[in-house]
Amino acid sequence: MDPIRKALQDLAASQRGLETGRTLSFEDFLAQLRWRPDRLIRNVHQVFHDMVRAHVGHGHDEYPDDPESINFIAYDFSSLLVEDTDQPFFADRIFANRLMNVIESFRGGAQQNKIYLFNGPPGSGKSIFLNNLLQRFQEYANSPDGIRYETVWRLDRARLGDDGGHTASEQLARLLGEKRTAKLLQDLGAGQRSAPGASYIEVPCPSHDNPIVMIPRDQRAAILDALFASDEFKWNLSTGKQYDWVFSAEPCTICSSLYRALLRKLDDPDAVFSMIFARPYQVNRRLGEGISVYNPGDLRSRQPAQTNLELQRRLDELLPAGSRVRYIYSRYARTNNGIYALMDLKGHNKDRLFELHNIISEGVHKVEEIEESVQSLFLGVMNPEDEQNIGGFQSLKDRIEFIHINYVLESPTEVAIYANTFGRHIHENFLPRVLENFARVIISSRLNENSPALRDWIGDPRKYMLYCDENLHLLKMAMYTGVIPDWLDEEDRKRLTAKRRRQIIAEAENEGSSGFSGRDAIDIFQDLYGAHVREGQLITMDSLVNFFTKVRPELSEKVPKGFLDALRNMYNYQTLQEVKESLFYYNEQQIARDLQNYLFALNFELGTSARCTYTGDKLEITEAFLDGIEDRLLGQEISDERRREFRAETQRVYTSRTLTQEIMLDGKDITDTELYAALRERYVFHLKEKVLEPFLKNINFRRALKDLGSDDFKTYDSKIRTDVRFLITNLCDRFGYNEQSAREVCLYVIDHNLAEEFAG
Ligand SMILES: [Zn+2]
Repeated sequence: MDPIRKALQDLAASQRGLETGRTLSFEDFLAQLRWRPDRLIRNVHQVFHDMVRAHVGHGHDEYPDDPESINFIAYDFSSLLVEDTDQPFFADRIFANRLMNVIESFRGGAQQNKIYLFNGPPGSGKSIFLNNLLQRFQEYANSPDGIRYETVWRLDRARLGDDGGHTASEQLARLLGEKRTAKLLQDLGAGQRSAPGASYIEVPCPSHDNPIVMIPRDQRAAILDALFASDEFKWNLSTGKQYDWVFSAEPCTICSSLYRALLRKLDDPDAVFSMIFARPYQVNRRLGEGISVYNPGDLRSRQPAQTNLELQRRLDELLPAGSRVRYIYSRYARTNNGIYALMDLKGHNKDRLFELHNIISEGVHKVEEIEESVQSLFLGVMNPEDEQNIGGFQSLKDRIEFIHINYVLESPTEVAIYANTFGRHIHENFLPRVLENFARVIISSRLNENSPALRDWIGDPRKYMLYCDENLHLLKMAMYTGVIPDWLDEEDRKRLTAKRRRQIIAEAENEGSSGFSGRDAIDIFQDLYGAHVREGQLITMDSLVNFFTKVRPELSEKVPKGFLDALRNMYNYQTLQEVKESLFYYNEQQIARDLQNYLFALNFELGTSARCTYTGDKLEITEAFLDGIEDRLLGQEISDERRREFRAETQRVYTSRTLTQEIMLDGKDITDTELYAALRERYVFHLKEKVLEPFLKNINFRRALKDLGSDDFKTYDSKIRTDVRFLITNLCDRFGYNEQSAREVCLYVIDHNLAEEFAG
């Protein structure tokens, strides 16, 4: 076939790049195809996948070396669903991972005869979510990155023996003048591009067929083989399931009958291909091209078959009577290779869903006697109670993939919603961590009371009663955020296997469909926030608890019993940690020396001696030497078995990653490695115990705190003044307090006797 040879030679054309506004001859299309096959050979599922990946990337895993990781990743969805939208949608980590798993399955090419229904309660923002997603798809599909081509025929009138002068539009043109005729035809929806008098008649493919499928199926493999060099793409094309359609797809009935009619008339495939052009597939939701969105109230068309009478007349004139091309298609054609979406399964959308059944399972649709083939991405949103509308229809249900889209189950995302609604400055009106705790109260109402997965893992939750509620909701919220809390004991941490993690995350499937809705939460927040801001008060943990127990006690009916108390406990614990850490005088040098010596010594037999290459210290490597440092890493009450395990594991990570990867390969200093950072954190944690005592026992210390900022402060001795300033400065620098809130939180720690409460 001649155009191919030309395409292979025509490298100049391939340098022109992908322009979104240009119509190409079939030869130029092949040249582009050769240059960018991975972009131009994509079905809608692949384009959708690429669009999401382009916005979201591959996310971030906080525990990359965790052998029990289940790839529960932190994805940043702001560019996909928040920025430049009418209304932002905030995806929590649970939903983000769920969605990315579905998107990933789009790439593989399997499972395409499905409709994906996002199933969520009122106020979960599912319509906003879908609208934003569709907006991003349209932007991407019309950009150079998302470009695909569609088929448009330009029937050469001279070549087809059209003597001109007697088509309807030209008769009109003689009567009305060309300009008014063009306008009239445009109003009728015909001939936008082929003005009367043009040398060709333009026939767009209403199904947006990729021009590649115009190559007859029996020749397609050979031609693609000739077109591509033996590279990675060619390998993928011939073996990847996602490219099956390239070899199996048929052109739509209009394109295939046009092809046959022209071939019969011209008897020359080259001549037929010279009339096939490729233009960028422009997606336009408002026109229903490439994206159609139906609301329950949208009436269903009484006219299932669509046509273009003017174009039909011209085709009839041009082509021999025996090979009539019927320019007839359904509305499904216009979203072929595009997206068909249902907003809610109520009213007319219920019927639409039933009508889709055949199309989804067979990929075909009958228009009068013609079988139209439809390959679209089918999406929808629904309320849980709509499920009864499809309840009895099992074969349809088998074609549905339900994706839960529930109320937010994760505090950072919940806070982001408040900040988006009320402005970022809301943070300034809360003591640190209190705003997040408000979000946790809201989220607690959305969780199931019992968590079999957590119970099975933790056993008796009372051992954590200082940090966590009895239902383990606070633990669950942390896990949903991707955080493994540092207050878990060594045993439980070790028992947190991949299997358990999967069980915990799986429980989210059935959570977040009751409790405070997104809208409820905004109203409640406004109530709390408004009152305090009017009074010019900071919102403290006390005011938060007071709000739910005294100001709006009816709200606490939705909050699990004991949750507020537990939340305050956790708050107290964390606040105490902050104050301790801020008070503590870290001897960084000593810590660094211990840790480097320890890591070095682990690689030697006990009873030997060696000079540490990091510190230059001469080490006698004995059990007692290692024990001494391990006491500071693990605490003193640790079993010998655990001690040996820890030693072996640390040594393994040191040799397999820290030394070989980070130090030797990446050129890092040992103190910049991940293992070092983890050990340092442990060291500091255990060293912090008991640090507060001397201060708490000193009555003058409390008074000095109270007097900070006043003239009386100067009357205290210099040691106390230095300590107070040191504490306040550290709290501000490290934990986001300002001077006033830092002082308040210190008094809170002292007056609530927190050090004693959490001692031992
Ligand atoms: Zn077509």
